[in-house]
Amino acid sequence: MEMLPKKPYRTLDLHVDPDPLEVDWAAEHLAALPVVITMHDTREVNHFFSNGEWFRHGGKVTVTWEEGTMQRFRIHLDRGATGFDLKWLKRRVEAARAGLFGERHGWRQSTDGIWYFRWGAGVSGPISAFEDMTPIAVCDEPWCLEQIHETDGPPVHVGERVDSDDWMIEVTQCGSDPWELYVELSTSTLTVAQAADLVNDLRWASGSVAKLNAPRAVA
Ligand SMILES: [Zn+2]
Repeated sequence: MEMLPKKPYRTLDLHVDPDPLEVDWAAEHLAALPVVITMHDTREVNHFFSNGEWFRHGGKVTVTWEEGTMQRFRIHLDRGATGFDLKWLKRRVEAARAGLFGERHGWRQSTDGIWYFRWGAGVSGPISAFEDMTPIAVCDEPWCLEQIHETDGPPVHVGERVDSDDWMIEVTQCGSDPWELYVELSTSTLTVAQAADLVNDLRWASGSVAKLNAPRAVA
């Protein structure tokens, strides 16, 4: 007797278009929710083999929107997660905000009613491609504007940031080094008015750095 083929592993099509009702619902309930990033204390990123294919689990994203709940997305990374995992989960958040939310789009509801989406994608190519990536860590400085940092060096914390169309200026501190400016220009031509704005922003950020580096008076 011929063996029946195993029921194929359910793979999810993440490119199903949302219908207009889903788009409207998401715009009303999800679009404005903030995102926090946390990391699991113990559970580590893992790879598992199923039906002839490698899968990777690197975290999940949960969401609550009703009154009386946290009303936020939470990206919950597994220990050892990399920027790749975070990017993937952030993309699910953006997709949910755009209407790709609900069971039809791969979201599930846990027994306590919280909706979640697990990052458990099939991996084509060698697993080592992921293991070579630098793990990230959640920043524990409450004032830092970055929620996560790479772990291949001391964290570069961001205290203040000016973001315009043509430049970005950050007041940063790498580990316990003195504060400094980080500047990115995305244009090489500026009008006189823009140049004046840039000088203004730089002056403001430099003042901030000088203040932060000034020796503190001992009480
Ligand atoms: Zn930081």
